[in-house]
Amino acid sequence: MSGSAIQYENGKIVVPKRPVIPFIEGDGIGVDVTPAMQAVLDAAVAKAYGGERQIVWQELYAGQKAVAKFGAGVYLPEETMAAIQHYHVAIKGPLETPVGGGIRSLNVALRQDLDLYVCQRPVRYFPGTPSPMKRPEDVDMVIFRENSEDIYAGIEWPAGSPEVERLIAFLQNEMGVKKIRFPASSAIGIKPVSREGSERLIRRAIAYALAQGRRSVTLVHKGNIMKFTEGGFRDWGYALAEQEFAEQVFTWRQKVAIAKAEGKAAAAAAEKAAVESGKLIIKDVIADNFLQQILLRPQDYDVVATLNLNGDYISDALAAEVGGIGMAPGANLSDTHAIFEATHGTAPDIAGQGKANPSSLILSGVMLLEHIGWQEAAAAVTAAMDACIAAGEVTGDLASLLGREGLSTRDFTAALLRRIEA
Ligand code: NAD
Repeated sequence: MSGSAIQYENGKIVVPKRPVIPFIEGDGIGVDVTPAMQAVLDAAVAKAYGGERQIVWQELYAGQKAVAKFGAGVYLPEETMAAIQHYHVAIKGPLETPVGGGIRSLNVALRQDLDLYVCQRPVRYFPGTPSPMKRPEDVDMVIFRENSEDIYAGIEWPAGSPEVERLIAFLQNEMGVKKIRFPASSAIGIKPVSREGSERLIRRAIAYALAQGRRSVTLVHKGNIMKFTEGGFRDWGYALAEQEFAEQVFTWRQKVAIAKAEGKAAAAAAEKAAVESGKLIIKDVIADNFLQQILLRPQDYDVVATLNLNGDYISDALAAEVGGIGMAPGANLSDTHAIFEATHGTAPDIAGQGKANPSSLILSGVMLLEHIGWQEAAAAVTAAMDACIAAGEVTGDLASLLGREGLSTRDFTAALLRRIEA
């Protein structure tokens, strides 16, 4: 069966009835979870559109499968990159990070080469999932993690290297830096955070929140300590919100200004009026406090926009609140490309044993369906997932926390398919 490529026209996605969706099976438990995801998405699309629409899967090679096909060292073949460029979307299972010098992590390579600057992670609770939270149903957030800058850019030098000696000498002699506590044995990393990089991420988060009718966007940062990098992220975010979305948002920066001019009561009244008129609230929270707040008051947070490293910590902390990494989906996005992926690794301890939880990749598939505007099919998968988990039909990772035997990947997938087809 032939399909055609998803295109972009004037910045808008154009999806044919039979879009080619490239997939990378992934290493380790990829063989378990990827076929499960494909079967579930196919069933949901068939159920929702009765043959009118159909996904045309095309396998792309990366990781161990690429090495087997193209030879030693070829973890990410040119044709895989070219196909993702051409088809604009892809979905991937987990890839083993090759050990040994000179090879970039495949995930990092894909992100950097396609400039996928947003890492989007929705976090919601499926009732019945074991959770350490008292009220896990209050957790419903979508994280927008900046994916291209910050201390993650990989600009660092080891202690004692000639590079670090030069850099420290430059900082001390030319920049007047006196605060390096142990200059002779320091390693140094550089943290670039730009206005452009922050703005494009925050713009995306606000646009998403408005499109989805969400209540707030929280900018999470450590601007109290890192005033120019993380503080810049916050300030550029507020400025962008007030300039580009003036009619649709109310910011805490505006609230502070009103409080200064007219008092706290006036500021609180202005915020209340903004909420009542349906405006999106843009607020900010310091990262350490945020990690506390998501345990104590998760209901106060909705869409979250944050820097790369904070986003890494927050994603895992929130995933744990709603059932762990086996349940957490994710996507890496640019303005024209999207790679949907399982957020867990290759789980070598259970690979090929038919035990893996395919939900992370299946829910990433739901994000893919939403991305291409196939909301009905997406809803069919989510409803089936809701029903299975509520009925206690779960894989071993969740079942062991509930103190019982779990279903195999195959049986869990069959349970999902039965509910979709019912
Ligand atoms: P991991 O996520 O593979 O495993 C951590 C633990 O979680 C293991 O006990 C595993 O059995 C369990 N687990 C993970 N996914 C599961 C699922 N779907 N169902 C049931 N249990 C699951 O993390 P790791 O062991 O640190 O990493 C293994 C490999 O994966 C490494 O090579 C790492 O670099 C790679 N990795 C890849 C990605 C990615 O491709 N996005 C992400 C993380 C790690």
